[in-house]
Amino acid sequence: MIQYLAPQQPVTRKHRATRDYVDSKHLKEAGLKITYPRKRILDILERHRTRHLTADDIYRCLVEADEEIGLATVYRVLNQFESAGLVEKHNFEGGQAYYELDSGQHHDHMVCLETGKVIEFMSEEIEAAQQKIARKHGYEIEDHRLVIYVRPKKK
Ligand SMILES: [Zn+2]
Repeated sequence: MIQYLAPQQPVTRKHRATRDYVDSKHLKEAGLKITYPRKRILDILERHRTRHLTADDIYRCLVEADEEIGLATVYRVLNQFESAGLVEKHNFEGGQAYYELDSGQHHDHMVCLETGKVIEFMSEEIEAAQQKIARKHGYEIEDHRLVIYVRPKKK
């Protein structure tokens, strides 16, 4: 029997709450003690919410602000944030890892191979197509990551 399924909304990361901002309160909720380095690194991620930062970017922000927090601490804190679900880590090809606050809102990425720029996008069409493909193979999607590697278009 052929079953016709009603089109569904993409349900990736369905149990994540949407976060408009992240502060110390979220450290506690994530089971992390509020420490100075954690607070400062969270602030930097929050201030650059629209960007994707490397550990070096964060370290440079700290140096500019005359903070005595070392690069090793930055890495350690970012790993803790990742385990606690506060940040998402992206290992795009050929570069350093990028970090961004986990906003709870699904999006995909494009990475420019010439400039390293990371562009966010979200396409209902792509989401729906992926649902269809998974269903066709007898699965439902739990999560997905899509990265498109691009170059500036030649005029
Ligand atoms: Zn992103």
